[in-house]
Amino acid sequence: LENINKTYNNGAPLHVLKGIDLTIEKGEFVSIMGASGSGKSTLLNILGILDNYDTGNYYLNGTLIKNLSETQAAEYRNKMIGFVFQSFNLISFKNALENVALPLYYQGISRKKRNLMAMEYLERLGLNEWALHMPNELSGGQKQRVAIARALVASPQLILADEPTGALDSTTSIEVMNILQEVNRNGMTMIIVTHAPDVAARTRKIIHIKDGLIGSIEVNSR
Ligand code: ATP
Ligand code: MG
Repeated sequence: LENINKTYNNGAPLHVLKGIDLTIEKGEFVSIMGASGSGKSTLLNILGILDNYDTGNYYLNGTLIKNLSETQAAEYRNKMIGFVFQSFNLISFKNALENVALPLYYQGISRKKRNLMAMEYLERLGLNEWALHMPNELSGGQKQRVAIARALVASPQLILADEPTGALDSTTSIEVMNILQEVNRNGMTMIIVTHAPDVAARTRKIIHIKDGLIGSIEVNSR
């Protein structure tokens, strides 16, 4: 990210990101912390090509992500990025297997292959017995594991997680962080927004956002 600026203009203009410079290398495990309203989700949404920025440059794997059409943005997102959210964002009327298979549908992969690949990821996350269950039949931790399987299934370059443990109790948070840490050890670049110091402590680097800028970067030894 080079000098990224973002102002929301619905209502009184709100200058949220005021020149963010940040480099995250392939394979890094990074957390973003900062006060409520400091712009963490805004930054993550820009990284995830879910939202536009006003000025500056965002390079993803060397590609300048700027002024993309909706179609191009969706194409990059589907190919490059896996998302994990606090509220899981599973589709309520699809079972666990169908939820995990969804990114593969957008890549035009056949139903048979989609189901095989989705099942493989559910198994990896210890959810094989839950494949045909609907989201409302799963615990919070199970739902988040389904969401992580869905984020991983299409082999993205990058996983973005916005408060992935925000809705979980502390034991389940630790389980989910164990999984994310393992995924990172296998080489996945991962960026996590969190309010929880113990979650941030599990990552390699903590980026603190303050007043629309990077306040400081802490490096954890682990
Ligand atoms: P939290 O820790 O509470 O999740 P955050 O750091 O993720 O906060 P953002 O969601 O990035 O904060 O919001 C930053 C600021 O931008 C807030 O003041 C918020 O009200 C405002 N904001 C966020 N999204 C929009 C939007 N779509 N339109 C207008 N203002 C917005
Ligand atoms: Mg947020």
